[in-house]
Amino acid sequence: MGSLARHRVLALAGVIAVVVLVVHPVAALGFSGFGATSADSTYGAQLRFTVQLPGGAPEKLEVLLRFIGSDGTFVAPVQPGASSAEYVWDAAAQPVTPNTKIAYRWRATDGGTVTLSPEKTLVYDDDRPGLDWQAARIGDTTVHWYGGKESEARHFGQVSANAAAAAEKLLGHKLAGPIDIFVYVSRDEFFGALGPGAREWTGAATFPELRTIFMWLGGGSASYLERTMTHEVTHVVFHDATANPYHVPATWFNEGLAVWSEQHSAADQEGQVRSAAGSGRLLAFEGITDSFPIDDVGARLAYGEGATMVAMIIDTYGRGAIAAIAAAWRDGAGDDAALQAGTGIPAAQLYDKYFASFGASAPTAVSPAPIPDSNVALPPQPKGSGNEVPGPTGSPAASPAPQPGAGVDDLALLVAIVVAGLFVGIAVAVVMARRSQPPPTG
Ligand SMILES: [Zn+2]
Repeated sequence: MGSLARHRVLALAGVIAVVVLVVHPVAALGFSGFGATSADSTYGAQLRFTVQLPGGAPEKLEVLLRFIGSDGTFVAPVQPGASSAEYVWDAAAQPVTPNTKIAYRWRATDGGTVTLSPEKTLVYDDDRPGLDWQAARIGDTTVHWYGGKESEARHFGQVSANAAAAAEKLLGHKLAGPIDIFVYVSRDEFFGALGPGAREWTGAATFPELRTIFMWLGGGSASYLERTMTHEVTHVVFHDATANPYHVPATWFNEGLAVWSEQHSAADQEGQVRSAAGSGRLLAFEGITDSFPIDDVGARLAYGEGATMVAMIIDTYGRGAIAAIAAAWRDGAGDDAALQAGTGIPAAQLYDKYFASFGASAPTAVSPAPIPDSNVALPPQPKGSGNEVPGPTGSPAASPAPQPGAGVDDLALLVAIVVAGLFVGIAVAVVMARRSQPPPTG
């Protein structure tokens, strides 16, 4: 190496050293903690979370979103800018229910150190144009209205407050927090709040984990809406009174209690249950524990059975039984143990008692029907496979029992082997074609 060359190397080394000196201090000055954080939202469009990074960006940055009422935290990596970062949740693609509260914080990982910003909360409000929300607190409920509907809203707020107080007394448990009620005027605004998947007949909808009820003033008569609000509020109190991390209480009890609470009676449901009993159509309680039938008749019967069972428990064992059942669920009991805690008798005995009160015996489980052989006519089959295969005019299997030696499985295997052989042939042909090509140049 000549002297000129050596000088060039030294000069290059010097440049590198300067670059390192220049770059390194900036990197060390990089992330110096979080500045201000903020969030805002536009209903139906987006939720936007921002953070200031006064010293620069960390090596790794994430936003942590906790939707209040649901378990778990949503974590998203965020590519920071020079002195700030933002994360946008697309609420058009991933709808969020209005009045959802989102606890948010930022997490930086830099030089092996993890830093968390203080947690703040964004309320995702329905700020669509024209909705000039106003609010008033009535008892345990906060009622929200717009469009000059204050007197109607206050009325339903009072109905809800009364319903909450009655349900708290019956269930022996106080609400864990206030309930929000949003009163919508137009059908479109109401269903726009519920988002996709809302059922058309709904006049009110409850999200117990959000402690929020949405109602539509045009959803029915005043008395229907009063009953509906009472029903929905009871669900929120029941949610609080039975909240536990182990078990979701039986649907028939939850709905039955809500229906019973509408008029503190199940007299309206008795006729329907009686006629179902008369025609042997009653549903087993085990069958309406997780969910209700989808068809209207089945669903109405499920509500009716739930309400009349709750009425029977109250009439036979007293109102205290309801509070005792709720307390057992709150402690993590299963349905059978909770029902026994309130009534003193095993659940199976309670069900028998119920069916006997309608002159019916307990419905028995229906075992699954066997799956018969296919009755689809097969196309003409190759001869000589050694098995008889039904031809296109062959009659469909009359017996649901499997036909011994029908040969369909053997035929399927033969077809599979032929098809597999074809694919192997094609694959070999492709490889041969590739090999016959000239090697790439370069
Ligand atoms: Zn309900």
